Amino acid sequence: MEICPICNGLEDICQSCPQCGGPMEERGPLQDFIDGYSPYLSQEMGEGLAPPGTCVHLYYCRACDRDQRLAIPRRQV
Ligand SMILES: [Zn+2]
Ligand SMILES: [Zn+2]
Repeated sequence: MEICPICNGLEDICQSCPQCGGPMEERGPLQDFIDGYSPYLSQEMGEGLAPPGTCVHLYYCRACDRDQRLAIPRRQV
């Protein structure tokens, strides 16, 4: 079985903001946003879909008010 190490709390990835270099907050897997109501997010889902074998997480920089998607490779357990 393949699981996402972030969703399962095995790993904590510290992503720095490409703009200011500050720490970005992990906002959860993108799947949560797709399932919920978020019209503006679902419109740009085309590029947001997870590549096979990955779980896409959303990272957010408070300072710049921008978010970034990060594809986390799932691992075998
Ligand atoms: Zn995940
Ligand atoms: Zn930033």
